[in-house]
Amino acid sequence: MIVNGIEINVKRKNIKNLYLRVTAPDGEVKVSAPEYVSDEEIINFIESKMDWILKKREEIANTDYVPKLKYVNGEKHYLWGEEYTLQLIENNVKNAFAKDKTIYLPVSKRSKIKSRQKTLEDFYRNELKKEIPQIYNKCIKKVGKSPNEVKIRKMKNWGNCRKNGVITLNLNLAKKPKICLEYVFIHELCHLIEFNHSKNFKKLMDKNCPNWAEIKKILNG
Ligand SMILES: [Zn+2]
Repeated sequence: MIVNGIEINVKRKNIKNLYLRVTAPDGEVKVSAPEYVSDEEIINFIESKMDWILKKREEIANTDYVPKLKYVNGEKHYLWGEEYTLQLIENNVKNAFAKDKTIYLPVSKRSKIKSRQKTLEDFYRNELKKEIPQIYNKCIKKVGKSPNEVKIRKMKNWGNCRKNGVITLNLNLAKKPKICLEYVFIHELCHLIEFNHSKNFKKLMDKNCPNWAEIKKILNG
């Protein structure tokens, strides 16, 4: 069925009401309709929702959809800004490791996605634990403050700084170029001086990490 030039995928079902969905990533419009509702009623229903449909399709078009990871052989994953290919291996070694643009993931054959994901996350955590000491002294020297503790976590923001001096860094920083880790760490260290994003904070960033705006783009790009 085509309404206002938009193809509508209509399915008749044993239901009581009309349901409308716009699905990602293609912005496909799907309608579930009760058996007894006429085509005309469906068209009226779609037309009454046209503003919403168009808005939803635009939202979807403007979103970058990352395909869902399955942690299978050949899948692409990132380490320090570079693309690696995932290779599953038998779990007779404890930790995942990277070599020649391949990340070797030790998992049992029947492992579920969740446990593969956890093994890879442990790998990223270890990579960060190796890398943080490399930049630690340089960064605290620049800013002139040191944290009480540095934690690594999977979280929404790239970094976090608490008033008690605990800095938390996002596990996924291991996927980004190393300069991003440095930038985020400096950003959080600056919060030990300015606990906000005020003008003074920006001044601190300009001083301690002059090209921070550029790095921020790399980080979020
Ligand atoms: Zn901040």
